[in-house]
Amino acid sequence: TTDVERLACDVLVIGAGGAGLRAAVEARLAGKSVIVISKSLFGKAHTVMAEGGAAAAMGNVNANDNWQVHFRDTMRGGKFLNNYRMAEIHAQEAPDRIWELETYGALFDRTADGRISQRNFGGHEYPRLAHVGDRTGLELIRTLQQKLVSLQQDDEAAGEGPDKLQVIDETTITELFVEQGAVKGAFGYRRGTGRFMAVSAPAIVLATGGIGRSFKVTSNSWEYTGDGHALALRAGASLINMEFIQFHPTGMVWPPSVRGILVTESVRGDGGVLKNSEGRRFMFDYIPEVFKAQYADNPEEADRWYTDPDHNRRPPELLPRDEVARAINSEVKAGRGTEHGGVYLDIASRRSAEYIIERLPSMHHQFKELADVDITAEPMEVGPTCHYIMGGVEVDAETAASSVTGLYAAGEVSGGMHGSNRLGGNSLSDLLVFGKRAGEFAAEHAAVTEQPVLSEDEIAAAQADALRPFGSGGENPYELQAALQAVNGRLVGIIRKAEELEEALTELEALRPRIANVAATGGRAYNPGWHLALDLRNMHLCSVATAKAALERDESRGGHTREDAPGMDPAWRRVNLVARLDGEELVLSRQDVPAMTPELLGLFDTSELAKYMTPEEYRSTEAEDA
Ligand code: FAD
Repeated sequence: TTDVERLACDVLVIGAGGAGLRAAVEARLAGKSVIVISKSLFGKAHTVMAEGGAAAAMGNVNANDNWQVHFRDTMRGGKFLNNYRMAEIHAQEAPDRIWELETYGALFDRTADGRISQRNFGGHEYPRLAHVGDRTGLELIRTLQQKLVSLQQDDEAAGEGPDKLQVIDETTITELFVEQGAVKGAFGYRRGTGRFMAVSAPAIVLATGGIGRSFKVTSNSWEYTGDGHALALRAGASLINMEFIQFHPTGMVWPPSVRGILVTESVRGDGGVLKNSEGRRFMFDYIPEVFKAQYADNPEEADRWYTDPDHNRRPPELLPRDEVARAINSEVKAGRGTEHGGVYLDIASRRSAEYIIERLPSMHHQFKELADVDITAEPMEVGPTCHYIMGGVEVDAETAASSVTGLYAAGEVSGGMHGSNRLGGNSLSDLLVFGKRAGEFAAEHAAVTEQPVLSEDEIAAAQADALRPFGSGGENPYELQAALQAVNGRLVGIIRKAEELEEALTELEALRPRIANVAATGGRAYNPGWHLALDLRNMHLCSVATAKAALERDESRGGHTREDAPGMDPAWRRVNLVARLDGEELVLSRQDVPAMTPELLGLFDTSELAKYMTPEEYRSTEAEDA
């Protein structure tokens, strides 16, 4: 272990997307030394790819908006399984986090009277997404990077200069060090050289994003292999809600090389509609009972809503994502899909070319370049794509702390906030709100904890684990990844049933020894095969967590649809499925979803609560109403 690079800091942030960067800013502002590590190049995280915007009830475009309405929409979107306190904090703090970004140098698109403009999105009652065209994530990342750089220069605000805030990119963390239930550091390797690194830190923030690469058709890029989820499990933390995976309704379907790449929901927010191969605007056929009051049941009313939202109901194309994805799936299954197995998304016949190019420049460019389709003149072909995982590290709502001392999680890697389904735009706001909190409380913990010491033995063990694929006579990692993706795509996708999930678990079990024995060839410098070999066990662990929870939850809710158990079951609304590691085995247990306070229950009509809850649960509101 002599060649292992040794570093130490107060707060180690793993992941340099929005959540990680926001956490790093906060921890540095609290005067702590911070290291931020990212697997890919600095600036290249999912956050940078976010197109639509960040949801925050600023009320700039419709003055009726406020945190209570945002909270209500978020709970409805998550089908009331959300950690209500997280949803409440999120709705209350998101506007401040957006305005604060402008003090860091961000510049959002403006309303005619110069305020931050807000756009419509699925499931949001009012225009709510602060945006920069369809490149919002780029502005977010650019601004947070700039803020980090300015903190590195600002001795007065943050003390002793650049050493106190380091960014190390193209470096993958493979293990967390834990002693007596508390984290003490992390182990990883530099991708470029293969050199190992051990960082000691009393506080660690996981901000590693999602798991999408466990599915073949996904909007996620290569680095999203569930590393943070798996690191947390192996460190002794728990994951919740792993059965809930969001399939975004609109990914590209053609040509095959781009299948899965995201087509932003803003296309629908800005007037685009979905049609089947018969030219029918089919979403009117798929409005679920619980949403009938808010969504138009005819095209005339739906179209009037864009200009007069106060007197008309919303178009059903803007239902929450789980509903739209299932509807598309049904149309294709019924034989009304397009040539390449999707449906049509048409904005060309509804908006002028100038409008489309101004509002959706990236989409225009993406389709022209990748599919040779001019979206100002022709419809796009779209279909569901694995996009986001609602499940993740179980955290305390106030502090983002996991159950392992010193370990915090924020952004997509954390669970609870979005319940069974996330609303579009709620991730960028989530990672700002809880990234800040994670940084703040990690810094607070570091302030009262001694700098841990990493032993030679534990470093040697982590190194041996990372090197294992090299002497192995096992299989090629790419073949194993394809096998894993095939199991998930075929048996744990949008529509699930018990016997298929059982089959998935059997197949995943059979993959386990093959993945443990995966082989890497060549040297350690820039060796993507070796990197994938190390990622595979994380993907496998997350896949098992998802399949197990999906089998256990025999109801359909949000991002989890069971063909053999259709409809929501009020009894299941009270239950979170919690995953933990017991040795090598992933075990599930049930935990009560915390009951909402009477004040929050009072934000809903009793008639709406009755659709989700048992009478005993919403009784307290009736008492208040009376
Ligand atoms: P990410 O931004 O995903 O960053 C994760 C970081 O962790 C990266 O730096 C990665 O390199 C690093 N990392 C991962 N594993 C390791 C490891 N083992 N070691 C070291 N580093 C590691 N949400 C919205 O709210 N609005 C939108 O408009 C929107 N559009 C989207 C468009 C696309 C195409 C996609 C894919 C997602 C979109 N989302 C949107 C979702 C949102 O972008 C993500 O959920 C969010 O950005 C996640 O942020 P994060 O900070 O949690 O993680």
